[in-house]
Amino acid sequence: MIEAENIGFTGMFDVGRAAEDVFSDISSNPLGYALFLDIDGTLIDLAATPDTIRIPAELPDILGRLSQRLGGALALVTGRALPYADRLFEPHRFPIAGLHGVERRCADGRVARSMPTPAFEEAKRELARAAKAWPGVLLEDKTAAVAIHYRQAPCYAMEVDVTMQAALASIGPGYELQRGKMVVEIRPDSADKGRAVLAFLDEPPFTGRIPVAIGDDVTDEAMFKAVNACGGASIRIVETPAETAAQWRLPSPQSLRAALSAMAARS
Ligand SMILES: [Mg+2]
Repeated sequence: MIEAENIGFTGMFDVGRAAEDVFSDISSNPLGYALFLDIDGTLIDLAATPDTIRIPAELPDILGRLSQRLGGALALVTGRALPYADRLFEPHRFPIAGLHGVERRCADGRVARSMPTPAFEEAKRELARAAKAWPGVLLEDKTAAVAIHYRQAPCYAMEVDVTMQAALASIGPGYELQRGKMVVEIRPDSADKGRAVLAFLDEPPFTGRIPVAIGDDVTDEAMFKAVNACGGASIRIVETPAETAAQWRLPSPQSLRAALSAMAARS
């Protein structure tokens, strides 16, 4: 039984319905739905550093079976870079939006991405130098974006934020700051997860389906709003209370994995 709670949205889905009803609708009509899944904190539990997350051994195949049931209309929508995210789910290669939509691989394998500017490259080098002075703070070079993680050294939260704001100012137009859980990121402002979901919905096999977006963080709010506007369903993994546009919530990545596993198993 999934513990889920309606958080008061009164749109397409009736108040009182639980996230498990959304899953049961998908299960009884899998070719009518498209599923958009965040990775960190949603499919998998967050870890102390971004490199120490663990993928449950059975998860790649669960997603593989579920994707088959959905006729391929399952996409990952993540802040991670594509090669990293692909490695997590080997041997499967799902359609995916990486770096919050800065790069996107369609169902047919085509990859679209925006290229970093010279000013961005210079700011990235400066940030790498700055981060060395903060023990426990990690800089993640995502090529077209850059993130600084301070989960292991929260005392540097303010310094990291101020430094990232200065870096953003030095880069000039075309980039924006994105704050997440113990992380601040600079990335192209032309991309967000909502736009990535809408781009998928313009293409087969996603087009014409009811979109369902599942995420856990502020960066996922853009895709919640996008699917809400299309008459879809949005579910946020919420371990502590948070303001959200999502219509439904689930208590943990584990509860989501149990639901996905049950949907994948049904034939
Ligand atoms: Mg997340």
